Amino acid sequence: MPSHTVADLLRGLAAGDFSSEEITQQYLDAIADRDGQINSFITVTREQALEQARAADNARQRGNAGALCGLPIAHKDIFCTEGVRTSCASKMLDNFIAPYSATVVNNMASAGAVMLGKTNLDEFAMGSSNETSYYGTVRNPWNTDRVPGGSSGGSAAAIAAGLAPAATGTDTGGSIRQPAALCGLTGLKPTYGRVSRYGMIAFASSLDQAGPMARSAEDCALLLQSMAGFDERDSTSMDVHVDDYAGALDQDLRGLKIGLPKEYFSAGLDPAIGDAVHAALEEYRKMGAETVEISLPHTELAVPCYYVIAPAEASTNLSRFDGVRYGYRCENPTDLDDLYTRSREEGFGEEVKRRILVGTYALSAGFYDAYYRKAQQIRRLIKQDFTDAFKQVDIIAGPTTPNPAFGIGEKVSDPVTMYLEDIYTIAVNLAGLPALSMPVGFAGELPAGMQLIGRDFDEGRLLAAAHQYQQRSDWHLRTAPDCA
Ligand code: GLN
Repeated sequence: MPSHTVADLLRGLAAGDFSSEEITQQYLDAIADRDGQINSFITVTREQALEQARAADNARQRGNAGALCGLPIAHKDIFCTEGVRTSCASKMLDNFIAPYSATVVNNMASAGAVMLGKTNLDEFAMGSSNETSYYGTVRNPWNTDRVPGGSSGGSAAAIAAGLAPAATGTDTGGSIRQPAALCGLTGLKPTYGRVSRYGMIAFASSLDQAGPMARSAEDCALLLQSMAGFDERDSTSMDVHVDDYAGALDQDLRGLKIGLPKEYFSAGLDPAIGDAVHAALEEYRKMGAETVEISLPHTELAVPCYYVIAPAEASTNLSRFDGVRYGYRCENPTDLDDLYTRSREEGFGEEVKRRILVGTYALSAGFYDAYYRKAQQIRRLIKQDFTDAFKQVDIIAGPTTPNPAFGIGEKVSDPVTMYLEDIYTIAVNLAGLPALSMPVGFAGELPAGMQLIGRDFDEGRLLAAAHQYQQRSDWHLRTAPDCA
């Protein structure tokens, strides 16, 4: 059961091969048995899951099955879930029970999905390794001495370990695609505005976007269908028609033009990852696609630009955590200033504090022009690079990460090296574009991921391109040792 895809499970549920209660129970048992080694869940909602599963089984019997009826999934613990702790992996929110659910959570619940629990992440989604969580490091099921990637590392590790067939993630600079790549999964960051951010705890509001993580592109299509759509409660949500993603997977790729940015295949790329990506591109050519070299000339500015804009937005978003309204409050404050200062000092971890300091500095009156305004100008140039490229090509392809999963503890003491982990993913967020990562082989024993980037709202084409490749390969079905 655990290595089944979403598509398999939905077919089995529809055919009556098993009930939602049965499979939900199996996943809950797998979590109880094996998550001690992986640490992918912060909260397991066992009783609620079984109740939802029984309700889904009843709905199906009454002929009232939604698109995801009875499918067990996990939510990244950045999505508010009514009545359930929503911690964002921070001591600051360790005691926070959300009073309402995020639109993504509601949309998926309305489609009949069953929530197994809330997955671990880097604190407030800041990180690329899932080592900054208040609840401890998540381990990569392919090799438990390695990181699963971050920040949606709990979601990725849970799926790769067979503890959930699918999960939600969020991606501000790579946090769906990078852990998907490091754990051998498919993950999609939709176009900015495609999926509602309402009830998703904000990190950098102009970059954050929720998306699906699962084994296959078909699974991501099925999940995105329920996640996506206009939401009047999110002012940046776009009122754009939601395509039939699953229905459009069988596209002929003949004539598809794939751009290969020369900046994404340069020094610094692990040769084994490069080989896996090139082999996948060869498959695309066999399917009739054409590959052309392109240039995204401002690529090297993406990481520095992001590390001004994201911390600037984070520093304002996180100012709401003041020890007054909700969240952590220090003991015996002597006065209001002491309450603010100590609640924040004790409630936030080191990486979060680093971002608040950098962001506050970049926004301060004396430095605003030099850093924040300059970064916004560079962001515009980065967007223009993609606009120009998409005049020549339909999609852009390259590696998702420069290297496979690295060792736990290897990069924590050097933030800049850690930040460079997202060198191929960050520009996409700055430009607001959709992109997915899918497995295309291995670097040694560790999964290698390839990224496909699309035009605004072209998720359907990305999913179809990935699906066609997955019809000819089985990397996405490989399971981590002892996790089948
Ligand atoms: N690794 C990046 C960061 O730490 C991106 C994180 C994310 O996408 N949430 O900011």
